[in-house]
This record gives sequence, C-alpha cells and structure tokens, in this order.
Amino acid sequence: MVSTETIYNTLTHHFGYDRFREGQEAIITHFLAGKDGLVIMPTGGGKSMCYQLPALLQKGTTLVVSPLIALMKDQVDALKTHGIAAAFFNSSQTEMEQAQILEAVKAHELKLLYVAPESLAWLESVMQPDYISAIAIDEAHCISAWGHDFRPSYQQLGYLKQRLPQVPILALTATADKATRQDILDQLGIGQAKQFVSSFDRPNLFLEVRPADKRLQQITTFIRKQPDSSGIIYCLSRKTTETLADKLVGQGFDAAAYHAGLEFAERAQVQEDFVHDRTKIVCATIAFGMGIDKSNVRWVIHYNMPKNIEGYYQEIGRAGRDGLPSEALLFHSYADVIQLRKFMEGATNEEVQEAKLDRMKQFSEATSCRRKILLTYFGEAREEDCGHCDVCLDPPNFFDATVLAQKALSVVVRTGEKEAMGTVIDVLRGARNANVLDKGYDKVRSYGVGKDVSWRDWQHYLIMMINQGAMEVAYNEHGALKCTEFSKRILFKGDPIQITRPQEGVERKRLALAK
Ligand code: ADP
Ligand code: ZN
Repeated sequence: MVSTETIYNTLTHHFGYDRFREGQEAIITHFLAGKDGLVIMPTGGGKSMCYQLPALLQKGTTLVVSPLIALMKDQVDALKTHGIAAAFFNSSQTEMEQAQILEAVKAHELKLLYVAPESLAWLESVMQPDYISAIAIDEAHCISAWGHDFRPSYQQLGYLKQRLPQVPILALTATADKATRQDILDQLGIGQAKQFVSSFDRPNLFLEVRPADKRLQQITTFIRKQPDSSGIIYCLSRKTTETLADKLVGQGFDAAAYHAGLEFAERAQVQEDFVHDRTKIVCATIAFGMGIDKSNVRWVIHYNMPKNIEGYYQEIGRAGRDGLPSEALLFHSYADVIQLRKFMEGATNEEVQEAKLDRMKQFSEATSCRRKILLTYFGEAREEDCGHCDVCLDPPNFFDATVLAQKALSVVVRTGEKEAMGTVIDVLRGARNANVLDKGYDKVRSYGVGKDVSWRDWQHYLIMMINQGAMEVAYNEHGALKCTEFSKRILFKGDPIQITRPQEGVERKRLALAK
C-alpha cells in the first residue's frame, strides 16, 4: 500500500501542485492498488496525472499507449523537464535507439514509456510483470466502433490483458457515452473494471448556436466585442481555415490558419505563437488543440458543424480552462450536415457515425436548455435548466405558423420537391436571381408569397418546420426539401403547426444580465 502522504509528496515534489483535481486522488489510489479502471474526464481535466503520478511510485515502467505519435515527443519532453525518466517508442526511431529504450526498461530506469499501438509488437521482450508495472491506454475511445474516433490499430489492445494478466490497466478518455464505455472495457478484457466518471459540466462556458448565414460578418462582430482575447475558429476544411484567416487578417484581425497539411515547422510556429499570445485567433481544423495547454482561450467558434457531440464537446472544452467566463458559438448549417454525411458514406461504422451526426443536429436545433442536452448525452442527468445558454436566456416563443408553413410548403410542391432551402427561400421572397429565373420559378403561383419575411427569418422557420417533421431534407439529393405526411395535413387539411420566433434577443439579454 502506498500511503496518502507519499502520494501528496509526489504531487508536490514532481508536479508542483498541492492538491488534486476532482477525481484524481481516488483514481490514483485505485490504480496503485493494482486494479483496472476506466477514467472519463473532460479535456483539460487532468487525466495524465492519473497514471503519471502512480508511475513514479512503481518499480517498473508504466506503458502509455497513445495514438498521437505527433504529441508523444512533446509529452515526453515535458516530463523530462520535470525530472521524470520518460521515453517514447515508435517507428520513427532507429533500431539502435529502440534497443537502448528496451535496455532501460529492463534496468528499471524508465518510469514512463509512450508507445503507439502499432509499435507494441516490438516490445515483446519486455512484456513481463517485472518490467511493466502498469498500463495506461490514452484516448481509449479509439478502441470502440461505437466511439467517435475508431482506430483499427487499437483493436489489438485486448492482447495486453491476456499477455500480462496481473498488470493493472487504466483506460482514459474525454468522451464516451455509456455504450462506448462498456465496449471499451470489454474489448480490453477488463469488463468489470471500476468506472470513474467526472462531471462534464463546464459552467463557465456560455453555449450558443446561430444559423450559418453571413458567418464572416457575425464572427467579426463577435470578436470585436472582446478584441484582445484569444479564440479558436474550427472549420471543416483546410481551405476554409486559410480563406477565413486571410479574410480576418484583411479586416485587421490577428489571425492564422492551422491544419495538418502545413509543414511541421509552420504548424509548430502557429501553435507557439498562439500559446504565447502573439497570435490571438487561430482558424483550424480539428487537428488543432490536442495537447496544447493554454488556459486563457476565451472563445471557440464552430464555423462548420462538428460531426458529433463528442467532437463538439472536446473542442469547446479548449475555451475557459482557467474557469473564467468563456463562449462557445456554433454555426448551424444544413449544407454542412449534407457534406458530413457524404464523408461518412462507406465508412465501416457508417450507421454509428450517422446516428451521432443526427444527435449533433438535434443539439443544434434544440428548443430546450442546451447544457442539459449535452450533459444528458454524456449520461449526467440534470433536473434544472442551466440558465446560461442561448435557449435559457431567450426561451422560444411559440406562435401559430400554419399560414407561413402553408406558403413554404406550396413553394416546395410547386418547385417539384427538388430544391434545397436556399432556392425555396428565394422563390418565397420573389428573388430575381439567375437560378430562379432560369428555372422559370418566377412563373409558379406561389412566387413571392413570402416577401414580407426576411431571408434569415425564413431560414429559421424552415429549420423549425424540418425539426417538427413538417418537411424533410433529402440528404442524398443535395438537400432537396420534401413533403411529409404532416406537410400534407398542413397544406390540405389546415392542420396547425406551432413554431418559434427567431432568437434575436440573446445578445440583448446577455448585456442586460452583465449589468
Ligand atoms: P487531459 O489529458 O485530461 O486533457 P491534462 O492531463 O493534459 O488533461 O491536464 C491538463 C492540465 O491540468 C495540465 O496543464 C496539467 O498540468 C494540469 N493539472 C493536472 N492535474 C493538476 C492538479 N492536481 N492541479 C493543478 N493542475 C493540474
Ligand atoms: Zn440552458
């Protein structure tokens, strides 16, 4: 048994902290007692501590399996600067270097050894309980096809428990719903292991979703409110990160692009500049942020829809790690949903991915407290609304929209149920653009019946109709809007439909609250 005193001494001497974060101490005690476990802790919660500290109190080496080869070196360097004997083992090294590492393990000279799952086979000669005291599996959701980032190379990890039945395994991840958690444990051969689930609530994050129109303008207005703060704008494509960064720079903002296609040195530079507040805004693909440690990120914007709630949560989690008020703004776009579905086609777990995207869509379209939806997703039940998201601040105000819906549906029908939202709105508003005129839509009977409603409000109404099943989006037909049974009842029988007014009061109410 390792005493509590020893554990605290190690915390102070090696890591320079005087107390544990939520969950850490219980996990460390459990792991040091030689038991398997699963840790679900939000990004930035302090997962690494849960195996790094125990590693220092063991005779042998703690093996850390991690998929992020690019980050291993940084992690190991950071440990070394704390005077902790650590190394990584991967295919980028020479045979000589690898042999030296194995020798160090055998001599009990290494406390932590980071390894990619692909390279595990090369460690066969040290796979003995005398050399390997404990095993940590980082990003453990990668083992499950139910997770959001399934990696085939993780599937071999069940071998570890078979090979070293006495050695405790600690699986860690920031994101796994209930089904995924059990699947992770089963696949690792530790089905009965204790699960440590931290709270996922980030009360200092203000959650907001807006329709994705005039995004650039919305973003610049948003940034100008807090001109000196740091933020990340997540985009779906490399190209968007670059064009968006260029446009922001063109308007005098301090922005840079970051994506996996950049040279290593350039990426490192952007990251460095951001961490040291020399660059305020990074327009990035999801590759950015993993492993960076910056506590004063004040906002995260999703220029595009994330493909699932796990990813969204992880990305917004990079804001406000210092606990100060921070904002998460998501732009909701049907075009993005269509794009994301396309990416998913043919994936081995296509159905799982699509179901996850649907949940993301539901979150974006929610008319009830967003934080509640988010926490429920991660299995944390909440009774109370949070009072600190856009929906709570500006609760939807339902009204009878039967006539509006009939107008919209008649345009959908008369344009042959083959047009996407943009064209339908153009026809409703009597637009005279080439697309509308070329197709002769200015001659359909309902042309212009919705002139008195703004483009943006129509967009909101149509989204609300879709959410209620009053029309549907054919994702496999470029997002064409189609009628449903409910549409027909609205159109032909005058069945009523209630929808909400566009949320325009959020900003105003926040200002009032701040006073
Ligand atoms: P995660 O892997 O869960 O995203 P990390 O392990 O990278 O998070 O930890 C996030 C940050 O929290 C790191 O800077 C780490 O040093 C810090 N940290 C971890 N544990 C503590 C603690 N007990 N007290 C203060 N800071 C801590
Ligand atoms: Zn809320």
